[in-house]
Parts: sequence; structure tokens; C-alpha cells
Amino acid sequence: MASLPFHFWTTVYFIVGAMVGSFLNVCIHRMPRGMSVVHPPSHCPQCQFTIPWYLNLPLITWLWLRGRCAKCAAPIPVRYFLVELLTGLAFAVVWNEFGNAVAWQQTSLIGAAYCLLLAGLIAATFIDFEHFIIPDEITLGGTAAGVVVSLAIPVLHNAETIGGALKSSLIGAGTGALIVYAVLLLGKLAFGRQKIELPPDTRIYFTEDSLVLPTETIPYSELFYRGSDTIHLHATNLELIDRCYSDVPVRLSQHTLFIGGEKLDPTTIAQMEAVTDQLVVPREAMGLGDVKFMAAIGAFLGWQAAVFSLLVSAVIGAIVGVALIAIGKRDWSAKLPYGPYIALAAVIWLFSGHAWEILWWLQPNPLQPIR
Ligand SMILES: [Zn+2]
Repeated sequence: MASLPFHFWTTVYFIVGAMVGSFLNVCIHRMPRGMSVVHPPSHCPQCQFTIPWYLNLPLITWLWLRGRCAKCAAPIPVRYFLVELLTGLAFAVVWNEFGNAVAWQQTSLIGAAYCLLLAGLIAATFIDFEHFIIPDEITLGGTAAGVVVSLAIPVLHNAETIGGALKSSLIGAGTGALIVYAVLLLGKLAFGRQKIELPPDTRIYFTEDSLVLPTETIPYSELFYRGSDTIHLHATNLELIDRCYSDVPVRLSQHTLFIGGEKLDPTTIAQMEAVTDQLVVPREAMGLGDVKFMAAIGAFLGWQAAVFSLLVSAVIGAIVGVALIAIGKRDWSAKLPYGPYIALAAVIWLFSGHAWEILWWLQPNPLQPIR
């Protein structure tokens, strides 16, 4: 094995990565829909055709079938191909950065840990783009995986003992979660408000724990961080359990509900229905999913990576924001999730952390490439 050329392993990493990417596609489709990722087997969502193994080869199948279902010719999104390609390339780059053909057994352990992290980052990015959430399976599961992997491979944290690695991993997870939570509370990165346009005479519901719109349900925990966070709308018709209003402005915050000039206590109201065509909701750059997401990154890479990811993701977000304004698509910024910026920043740290030694308050990437 040790005599095999370096790029033999690069190819192995690429192929394994493409296969993992194929599984990530299943996760990306099913996790946010609350479906099992193992059962039922892969099938066409259009015609329910169960895809046999020989038509489930990563990259090749999509190209062979030119992005269409073999049975009903329903289009298969290009995302399936891109995720497989991206994961394959990511794994190959991990081997190129951290692998050593002579010490392939030791370096493969480190490689496997980083590949696992990258797989999580890729799945989180694509789910966040489509659904504005990062499922707990990835964030909390990723945090647990980061701790376990650190115990198995203490060198990931430049630690000599299992205890040292455990400490670094837990401090990393704690730092990641706390700094993002602090940002949420302080509202430093608040994008402020988002206007949601609805078709005329849309019926929306305020239940005990969430705002229900025709296309999405937003838990209040994602809307109200500060006392000043407020939902505004103008209702052509508004129904509480015991009374009705027509043509009134409505303002709802954590502790107060104004209907016209009337002030009510929202905790005493179980359900409210409104007919309206637009509303303004408080929207943060980040959500609670990002708190857990950053914990996972810290668990794998340590606290320095968490601090770095927060700062660099803010810079990337700002650059994207300016770019959107420059091309006249300013309103897109409210439609972009924050998770992908964090994922990209973590990837930058992973592959170039040692280049950031100049920042005195960050320690160098503990793991220099072994060549
Ligand atoms: Zn089909």
C-alpha cells in the first residue's frame, strides 16, 4: 500500500467523495422534510421508480441520463451532479493537503475526520440555501461527531492525550455556540427587517408558538430575540377567538400586541388570524441553527476556528451584500441564509489556517500538512 503513488490515493479520495456526495443529496432532499435518510431506497419523486444500483452511480448516471429520470424523463436537478462533484473534489483536496502516501494509514485518519467535517458543511450549505434551516442532525450530530472524532484522533487538536483533545473540542464547541449566541442577542449583525409580499387577501395565522404563512412556518423563537423586535402588518380583517376587527394596523412584539390603538397582552391570546397582502418581520442575519452549526465547527477545529469563522463569515457576507447592491439585486440579501458564509469561512480556515498566524490573537492551525 505504502508504495502506491500519491495520486492513486487522490483518485480514491475523489471516488469516495463522489459516493458520499450521492448520499449527501439524499440528506439534502430528505432531512429538512423530516424523512428518513436510509429508507425508502432512492427513487424518482415524480414516478416513484426505485433507482437500481447501476443507475445510482455518482456523477456518471447524471451525465449518462443527461439529468433525467430513466423511466419518466422528469428532470433531475443539476444540484445532484454539483454536490457529487464538489464532495469528490473536497475529499481529493483534503488528501492533497493533509495526506502522505508513505504514512497513508495515519494521515487517512486525519483525512477521514476532515472529510466528515466537509461533508457536513456541504450538506448544511445546500439545505440552508433551499430551506433557511440547518437540521439538528447536522448541527447537533456534527457537534457530537466532532467530540468523538477528537477523542479518537487527539492530534486534530494538537493534543497528546485524549483528555487534552476532549478539552479543546469542548472549549471549541462552547466558544462557537457562545459567540454566535452573543451576536444574536446583541443584534450586531442584524439585517433588521424583511418585508414579505403575499398574494392579495392571504390568510395568515399566529399560533401559540409560530407564525404560519402559506409557504412557511416561522417559530417565534426565530423572530423575537430582543424586546424591540416587532412584526408589522395591516390587516383587512383580523379575528381573535372572541372578536373581529377590520382594516386595522397590527404590531406584535414579544410582550405587546397593538391592534389599532388597543394594547393587548399577547400571552393571553391563543390564536389570531389575519387577512393581509404583506407583512414586515424582524429578520436576523443568523438564526439559532447557526449557533449549533458553529458549535460543530468548534468541536472539530477548536475555538480559534470558531472565532475565525465568525469574523470571516461576516466579511464574506458584507462582500456579497456590496456585490448584490452593485448588480442591482439588493433585495436578494434578505433571501440569502447565513450558514453558507460560516461554512465557507470554516473551509478557508481548514485549508489555510496556518496563513493567518499574523493575526496575533489567533494561534496557528495546529496541524501543519505532513508531506
Ligand atoms: Zn421518474
